[in-house]
Amino acid sequence: MAQLYFYYSAMDAGKSTVLLQSAHNYKERGMAVALYTAAIDDRVAVGQISSRIGLQSDAHLYDDQTDLFRSVQRQHDDQTLACVLVDEAQFLTEAQVWQLSDIVDELNIPVLCFGLRTDFQGKLFPGSEVLLAIAEKLTELKTVCHCGRKATMVIRLDANGRAVTQGSQVEIGGNDRYESVCRQHYKAATRA
Ligand SMILES: [Zn+2]
Repeated sequence: MAQLYFYYSAMDAGKSTVLLQSAHNYKERGMAVALYTAAIDDRVAVGQISSRIGLQSDAHLYDDQTDLFRSVQRQHDDQTLACVLVDEAQFLTEAQVWQLSDIVDELNIPVLCFGLRTDFQGKLFPGSEVLLAIAEKLTELKTVCHCGRKATMVIRLDANGRAVTQGSQVEIGGNDRYESVCRQHYKAATRA
């Protein structure tokens, strides 16, 4: 039976690398897969997933209006899909996570989602919250803080390198950057 998988982590844990490697393993065996990534930036017309180590692949874009079940079903009618892979899964709506579960349960296609667990305020992203609740397989992709401890949190840093503690969950086109840190260093940065 197919299952719903959620691979979660802080930033820069190699999520896209694992996603693209998984897609490659299917394609190498002659199996078709469907890749999706979030259209968080409407200046981007064509979807692409790329990893920091140089792998990349075209992907379907989804926004919060996309019916992922219908989209996958249409492709599956055309060519049998062996797997569906979703990047930036933290941006999925609650309804879309349930649509992905319908792909698993009704079409019997495994769905692998990759995303951040929490935002820069230490709060669960909406998509991640539902995935943590209903996915059968939860896998943490690990990354490390500058101190060597496991990094579980993300801090947002402004142009001066100071931690930002207020603002919207998703910032598009700004100069802020993000860094993965352990909880101790998250507190040290955000309470300073
Ligand atoms: Zn640390």
